[in-house]
Amino acid sequence: IRVDKMGLDELAHMARVIERLNLASKDPLTGLTTRRYLDDELPEVMTRMKDTSTPISAVFVDIDHFKGLNDTFGHATGDEVLRTVARLAVMAVRDSDTVIRYGGEEFVGILPNCDEMGGYLMAERVRKAVERHDWEAHGVSRRTVTVSLGVAEHRPGEQSGAWLDRADQALYQAKGSGRNQTMAFSAISANIKR
Ligand code: GH3
Ligand code: MG
Ligand code: MG
Repeated sequence: IRVDKMGLDELAHMARVIERLNLASKDPLTGLTTRRYLDDELPEVMTRMKDTSTPISAVFVDIDHFKGLNDTFGHATGDEVLRTVARLAVMAVRDSDTVIRYGGEEFVGILPNCDEMGGYLMAERVRKAVERHDWEAHGVSRRTVTVSLGVAEHRPGEQSGAWLDRADQALYQAKGSGRNQTMAFSAISANIKR
């Protein structure tokens, strides 16, 4: 398409299309990337990691007892907590990492150039940042907000769905082991019957 041959109305239309595409890829509450990233951009990132034999890890993050927090402090405070956890996570990771709002109070971090140990350390930075945050300033009194996290490093040839599922399994173990902790998939895989 030759932009110099386009009329003003066509250009305005194109601007609106671009704006819509940008909005569609951002979660309105947190400003994070939406899960569309997993279909639209992750395959290319994974190909790049494969071609350069560089590890890549995924971290699942889920706010602990968030339903109770909503029930106690109200939905508006819940939204504020979601926005703040998202911001703390983005600040704790590297510029090259992508944080996705995966579901209601669930986030996924995609960490290129990061093996499982690196992913674990990154996850712990997020966990500690949330634990240490001054939540009273957000109207959450007499308790703190915590997150549980699960980490998995991509295996050669593995489908992205299976990889993310392993990170989710690790998160499930972190929940079952008392919450406010990080679990790496390799630390639990010995216990999983297949
Ligand atoms: P667990 O520690 O096992 O993760 O418990 P939980 O209460 O965090 O998990 P559960 O899945 O039972 O509840 C998630 C809650 O998150 C329920 C839902 O109302 C709330 N939620 C989801 N999306 C939003 C949102 O955008 N804003 C607010 N305020 N709450 C949300
Ligand atoms: Mg939760
Ligand atoms: Mg959840």
